[in-house]
Amino acid sequence: MHDVRDNAAELIALEDRYGAHNYHPLDLVVEHARGVWLYDVSGKRYLDCVSAYSAVNQGHCHPRIHAALVEQAAKLSLTSRAMRNDRLPGFLQRLTELTGYEMALPMNTGVEAVETAIKLVRRYGYEVKGIAPDRAEIVVFTNNFHGRTTAAISASSTEEYRKDFGPLTPGFVHVPYGDYDALGKAVNENTCAVLIEPIQGEGGVVVPPDGFLKRAWGLCREHRILFVADEIQTGLGRTGDLFACDHEGVKPDVLIVGKALGGGFYPVSAVLASRDLMLLFRPGDHGSTFGGNPLGSAVAIAALDVIVDEHLASRARYAGAKIVQGIRAIGSPSIVEVRGRGLLIGIELTVPARHISEKLLEFGVVAKDTHENVLRIAPPLVISDAEIDLLLGALRKAFDFV
Ligand SMILES: *Cc1c(COP(=O)(O)O)cnc(C)c1O
Repeated sequence: MHDVRDNAAELIALEDRYGAHNYHPLDLVVEHARGVWLYDVSGKRYLDCVSAYSAVNQGHCHPRIHAALVEQAAKLSLTSRAMRNDRLPGFLQRLTELTGYEMALPMNTGVEAVETAIKLVRRYGYEVKGIAPDRAEIVVFTNNFHGRTTAAISASSTEEYRKDFGPLTPGFVHVPYGDYDALGKAVNENTCAVLIEPIQGEGGVVVPPDGFLKRAWGLCREHRILFVADEIQTGLGRTGDLFACDHEGVKPDVLIVGKALGGGFYPVSAVLASRDLMLLFRPGDHGSTFGGNPLGSAVAIAALDVIVDEHLASRARYAGAKIVQGIRAIGSPSIVEVRGRGLLIGIELTVPARHISEKLLEFGVVAKDTHENVLRIAPPLVISDAEIDLLLGALRKAFDFV
């Protein structure tokens, strides 16, 4: 009998037959990966400009994170929080010291950390700010992406994410992204928090106007509103700083991290806040069977070490500048704008981004459209000069076709 695993078409058919169709992936079946490179089942390599939506900032299968995973998996993987484990304390200390927060609450996927933050700020609204029961409001922004749970889609303005999934969760107020005046009008005595992505990733790599984050943060201080940054995609070096909020010198009251915190090996997310705020959660109020498990903790410590020791934030800044310059130099009439920060780059096009994305695949580069007309270029932060040249060469060729 032949091995179906060798055959991309058969694997695709199997997946489509037995798996829910909640994604529309490229027909690229990846078999292994290393650094910035993906290898498909036939051995062809592709430069990865998706990076699992920034979950593999450290590069695929980083040997140091891999070693931490293997070593820990052989000793202890899961205890639940019914008891303590010997890896969680070191993880919490490393994460809080690196980010400058007093306390962290570990979860697994990004959206679980978003849910945790929503519960935390609502509790702050009632117990600290004195908002009447069930009246707390969280201001969110048009075109946001905070994940796919019922609460996260309730915070969304994207019809596709919400349609026929109601009744949705009340208490979210929408403001156009980057519109300070609208934000000022939206807050009132029931506002407990403003929840924002410092750059909208899924929304099409949208960078707010200069100074917006700082002004929004100032407004929050004035009105005892918590400024909550969802840095699940923008954090941990991606935008050329450890966090995108650092660019404007803003320290959020609540910081949400995920994706690259697990180094591409394991889902690890966390909510960071002051001690006063975090202690609003009392034993039994919130939890997760897998959150803070020793395997995830060991992986996350290694994932953070790699970001710091390999200077991935400054490498993202350098590589990002070089790539943006290279794309602008292509001078294609199909390019409307090149935007972003560090290695979170969006190319806005006059044509559907899917056209370029399909061409790029032929030339050995995987990059996906975010919104209809925006191509996102977000390779692992370890991308070398030679690899940048390969990427720019492929982009040049792809733009010759449109
Ligand atoms: C990916 C993402 C999430 C959701 O993370 P999951 O791990 O997919 O649950 C939330 N917010 C932002 C900004 C993201 O990019």
